[in-house]
Amino acid sequence: MEEHANAPSEPTPLPRKKKDPDRKALIKHLTIAGVSAVLVLAIALLFYFLPFRELLPAYAIPARGEGEMRLHFIDVGEGDATLIEFPSGNCLLIDGGDGSLENTNHLIRYLGGLEMKSLSVVSSHADADHCGGLQSVIENFPVEKLYLPVLPSDTGSYLGMVEAAEQRGVETETLTRYGCIGEEGAYAVCISPYSAGEEESNDSSAVLYVRGCGVNALLGADISSARERRLLGEWDLDNEIFNSGNCEVDLRDVDILRVSHHGSASSSAAEWLQLIDPEVAVISCGRDNDYAHPAEETIARLTECGANILRLDEVGDVLITLHDGSYIAQPLNLK
Ligand SMILES: [Zn+2]
Repeated sequence: MEEHANAPSEPTPLPRKKKDPDRKALIKHLTIAGVSAVLVLAIALLFYFLPFRELLPAYAIPARGEGEMRLHFIDVGEGDATLIEFPSGNCLLIDGGDGSLENTNHLIRYLGGLEMKSLSVVSSHADADHCGGLQSVIENFPVEKLYLPVLPSDTGSYLGMVEAAEQRGVETETLTRYGCIGEEGAYAVCISPYSAGEEESNDSSAVLYVRGCGVNALLGADISSARERRLLGEWDLDNEIFNSGNCEVDLRDVDILRVSHHGSASSSAAEWLQLIDPEVAVISCGRDNDYAHPAEETIARLTECGANILRLDEVGDVLITLHDGSYIAQPLNLK
């Protein structure tokens, strides 16, 4: 029998769509990229809206006793960051390390662990190992005043610090000899640089003589032996040449010295050390640094004058508490 012409024929199966392995991989990559971008954006927004310090746990630093003044030599590697806590609770930070993530995090966590009534900042000079971390300090703490060095710079770290101060309306002032910061009986007075004629960055860095609670300190910034000899010559000429108003300076009476230029051989001249005759010499330098700081010659000269040497690359942060004419030095080992 003949088959009916209109009989339904067997349905032809549709060809199955072949999966393209390249397309699959592309979708996977795009998904990962999308998720990553969202994560990066979320983190960036978090950093933008939350101050940096909110994300970093503050260190537990022993509380300051009533009437005490404290000097904090903060371990920022090959650089410098020194904080003075005056008896009133007002604080002065001199330099902020090199601005690397590790050192800046350490500095922010350290400052976050203190009860500061106010905070002002000195940028001793424009070198990156001193002013590199100050932009972050200004962005993370309510800085009252920023003391600028006599010689400005066009480096990113210097401009970043100045810009951060401008954006936050921080008052600025250039610090030169006779500039005195502090309160009655407890102060930091600048004995160098001069207000004119400075040409070399290290030698123009701000040297501070600090007095309080019957103890004296000298923060030598990065000056060389040439500047030390010049200051020594002025001292020999007139013992009162560095006095400024109520801020008296006596270079024969230095208990604690922050050794100049991280202990380099071209600083800490023997005759300078003989005059200031420090009991404690703090050297701020990095572990295995590229400059071999501190130099053996400097260590020998400091030992010769009988100073107890505290190297931050060996002991970490050092806290010195001043009270009633005496002081106690204590490594904090926070890093
Ligand atoms: Zn330096």
